Amino acid sequence: MATTTTVVRQYGHFINGEELPPSSDRIARHRPSDGTLVAEFSAGTPELAQEAVQAARTAFEDGPWPHMSGVERARALQRLAGLIAENKEDLARLDAEEVGTPLRQARGDLETTVALTEYAAGLAMSLHGEVHSNLGPDLTGIIMREPAGVAGLITPWNFPVMLLAQKLPFALAAGCTVVVKPSEFTSSTTLEVAKLTRSAGIPEGVVNVVTGTGPNVGQVLAESPDVDVLSFTGSTATGQRIIETSKHTIKRLSLELGGKASNIVFDDADMDDALDGVLFGLLFNQGECCVSGSRLLVHENIADEFLKLVRARIEKLRVGPPLEALTDVGPLIHDSHLAKVSDYVQTALAEGAELVTGGQRLQLDGYDGGVYFPPTILDRVVPEATVFREEIFGPVLSVTRFRDEEEAAWLANDVEFGLANSVWTKNIDTAMRMSRALRSGTVWINTTIDGAPQLPGGGVKTSGYGREMGQAGFEEFTEIKTVQIRTGARTPFFGN
Ligand code: NAD
Repeated sequence: MATTTTVVRQYGHFINGEELPPSSDRIARHRPSDGTLVAEFSAGTPELAQEAVQAARTAFEDGPWPHMSGVERARALQRLAGLIAENKEDLARLDAEEVGTPLRQARGDLETTVALTEYAAGLAMSLHGEVHSNLGPDLTGIIMREPAGVAGLITPWNFPVMLLAQKLPFALAAGCTVVVKPSEFTSSTTLEVAKLTRSAGIPEGVVNVVTGTGPNVGQVLAESPDVDVLSFTGSTATGQRIIETSKHTIKRLSLELGGKASNIVFDDADMDDALDGVLFGLLFNQGECCVSGSRLLVHENIADEFLKLVRARIEKLRVGPPLEALTDVGPLIHDSHLAKVSDYVQTALAEGAELVTGGQRLQLDGYDGGVYFPPTILDRVVPEATVFREEIFGPVLSVTRFRDEEEAAWLANDVEFGLANSVWTKNIDTAMRMSRALRSGTVWINTTIDGAPQLPGGGVKTSGYGREMGQAGFEEFTEIKTVQIRTGARTPFFGN
């Protein structure tokens, strides 16, 4: 397996169980910690994407994978989980280097990746339908759950291997064959996992990976009638494009899109927990996280005191390169994204917010090409402000005060997104009422960015539809077939 050295990793696509030689047209990845070239991914073409779709189609129609017993598929997935576990340090380093996320966090992502794969192995064994035997004396109904077919899996750059694991093992457990299109910025771990699927004994053609850009590769997966189900994670804008480009095929879509989560802190919250949660929610993956707690909604009774504590803690955190042990917050993904984050801060100030800390690009000694932006707090952000409403995808916290529960729920819901929200309170009545009032796919109470493979995640409103993980995420990759069996002589409809 490739590791993070100064050697530039060069990858071809992975089709039909084989690594193709790197293509002449490549996409360079410079690591955001210092701008060093670390990897080159083959720039896939629409023709190549089609070839991968055909490989997956053939493996689905002719191959053993969809017809294997659940136990056999489960064993292959257990082997895959074991191989990922054996290689987790190398995989964590690749993601840390390409994304910029601190290694400590990337290691956690790998733990989750292994757990998701193990859980999916269990699902492979438990896939089953239903029998209805109470439909009268001579009618029996069988509801079969079958693999949905060829699945297209498109992933973003922020958690390359973990988001792959929210899709790939679930699709495989259901008996689907797949074509994966990872982000063009962070493709290494997806290609490495594809090789591990081969070592795990998953037959050729079942897992295919084509690297490259959205228009050249991802769009083909959306358009192709040979892709039956498309599971996409990325921005709302790209999700909308996918709805448009896939519409002629009427394929099933599962769309995990943008978010604008809030951490809602009541005046009876455990202050230490809430403080830690607000920092973690904001800075996990440098704020480049769909469920990032980019809005702090805080009760007016405690707002000034709480904000003082947040500021004091944030200013002690170390922004630095991901592979250094002391780093708390890594670099952003690339320069143009940093420019976007920085523009949001300027817009907020122009719209009346107060800058509490941060706000300007950081230059770190010895890391000239680094893409560093400090944790930033904007106070007095009104609900009409751009930063209150739009996804920033960076370490920028906007702070808004509320008077009571009703206003807190209204503020949290008053955005077009509906992915997640967190509530910090020790009052069970408040917690339960808020859980019901919040319009988001996930509500965390006294925790944030938490989870387990058993628990589905997904959004409402423009955060998308469909679910990942849990039984619900698994079912996205299955199709229902109803078989109706009538026994005995048929009663003639038209008489004799
Ligand atoms: P993006 O939408 O730019 O890209 C995501 C993927 O789609 C990439 O692989 C990209 O190449 C591909 N793509 C781009 N154009 C395409 C097209 N026309 N057809 C098909 N594929 C296309 O998103 P990003 O910048 O990589 O990731 C950040 C976004 O992802 C944020 O909005 C974030 O909220 C979202 N996200 C959501 C979740 C979730 O679970 N809801 C999780 C992580 C990230």
